[in-house]
Amino acid sequence: MIDTHCHLTFTQYEGQIPAELDRMREAGVRGCITVGTTSADSVAGLAIAQAHEGVWCSAGVHPLHSDEPVDWGALRACAQHPRCVAWGELGLDNHYATPGKAHQMAALEGQLDRMVRWREEGIVKPVIIHCRKAFDELLPMLAASGLPRDRFVFHCFSGSESEARRVLDFGAWISFTGIVTYRNAPEVQAAAKLMPDDRIMAETDAPFLSPEPMRTAKPNRPAHVMLVVKQLAALRGMDEAACADMLDRNACRFFGLPPKP
Ligand SMILES: [Zn+2]
Repeated sequence: MIDTHCHLTFTQYEGQIPAELDRMREAGVRGCITVGTTSADSVAGLAIAQAHEGVWCSAGVHPLHSDEPVDWGALRACAQHPRCVAWGELGLDNHYATPGKAHQMAALEGQLDRMVRWREEGIVKPVIIHCRKAFDELLPMLAASGLPRDRFVFHCFSGSESEARRVLDFGAWISFTGIVTYRNAPEVQAAAKLMPDDRIMAETDAPFLSPEPMRTAKPNRPAHVMLVVKQLAALRGMDEAACADMLDRNACRFFGLPPKP
């Protein structure tokens, strides 16, 4: 099993990364992707991925950091490294008032333009999408980019069943966090049930969103992706080990990670 989305660069893990990775492996999780949120954070994520077996990283600017300076050269260099397996996370977040729409749009458009251009130069990566209450704006922008639709994953899905159908109709993937374990998230659970076997992934988004029954434990950790798997298996009427295998294969296919030995 792979935790396809966590943030090992965040201060919660300062000095704790080897211990977190030990815990992760003990839980049966063989790897994780630490996701970039700014250009500097992406560079820091790459350093962690280079230093530790079973850690990969991504390069991108999160919409909630879209008002911070971007070092495009650093982002591009990061993406060229073999340990960097995706762009992102990038997208739009309408839950918070700041950064304002102008900042978020500029960061998103700047990244989409470069991903298209850099793709032509041979840097080809799937894209991790952060979409919070922004499906109406985001889906047409992703379509207009011309990037392959089956190379986008909507991470930390928190939308409704009908929004999940829209993402599937668009052609993208969906990834679920601990939110799918929360009692107050029946819509997200309904979405998890309707996903086809070959377009679903699991993640923690650690240090955030600890799954039940560890919801009050802070920080969340990559090891806890197994609690997300457990819930997805239950919702989909699958055996837990079979569900973990399916999710592992999907993560390998989407991110180009080495298959389970
Ligand atoms: Zn994240």
